[in-house]
Amino acid sequence: MSTKDPVRIEQLNWMEYEARMKEQQPVVFIPVGALEQHGPHLPMNCDELIPREISEDVARTINGLVAPSLNYGYKSQPRTGGGNHFPGTTSLSAEAMILSVRDVVMEFARHGARRLVLMDGHSENTMFIIEGIDLALRELFRDGITDMKILRIGYYEFTSASTEKVVWPDGFPSWPLEHAGVMETSVMLYRRPDLVDMTKLATDVPAQFPPYDVYPVTFENLPTLPRSGALNSAKLATAEKGKLMFNEYVSGIALAVTDEFGLGKKLK
Ligand SMILES: [Zn+2]
Repeated sequence: MSTKDPVRIEQLNWMEYEARMKEQQPVVFIPVGALEQHGPHLPMNCDELIPREISEDVARTINGLVAPSLNYGYKSQPRTGGGNHFPGTTSLSAEAMILSVRDVVMEFARHGARRLVLMDGHSENTMFIIEGIDLALRELFRDGITDMKILRIGYYEFTSASTEKVVWPDGFPSWPLEHAGVMETSVMLYRRPDLVDMTKLATDVPAQFPPYDVYPVTFENLPTLPRSGALNSAKLATAEKGKLMFNEYVSGIALAVTDEFGLGKKLK
């Protein structure tokens, strides 16, 4: 049985929550994920699980709080996630995504939160998260709330050049092609090896795409799309690499959040 986790907002009662918001002004992390196929060897929750676990570890370091994730993301695109036509991939429209982010940001603002981090695990979400933040900030400004600060973080952007060389000794492919590739597979092997099956690695990779998009998204219209749903090989993935990357993301993001929100003293 697991025990109560003091960084998880939904495990607090409302009075504990209210007191923490009032007395400590904690940074609130909102993981934003997706339910999306990740090839034959990974589960469909990678884009939610990884940013949530990073958020939890950062929150523990800086005495922050983690909100329940937004579990569904914007429609998977062929060149970054295989495409929305795969069974299992379950997505929101742009409007639903934007308004979900706007509403959640405004709710935390109503509770008194002034420091938020939207921790994104699914690249297709980026612009819709930004739009949701922008709409929320405009409404809050009109209501006289002008002291809100929000970070949007794609955790993988915290990969250093030296880690990149260790993880991809033959050269880094690209973040879009990394869908179900070495990074996500390694981090999952480190954090949740029970959810990874390395005997089922895709063999129809790396994906080769023309430099444009084709709609409607169908397998017929995308003859070079790997049928496995992975876009690159995860053969080089290991739990050790996952640990290296995960720890780099947690420490890099903790530093950035500390710096942006002026928490320097609290870290020590
Ligand atoms: Zn992913």
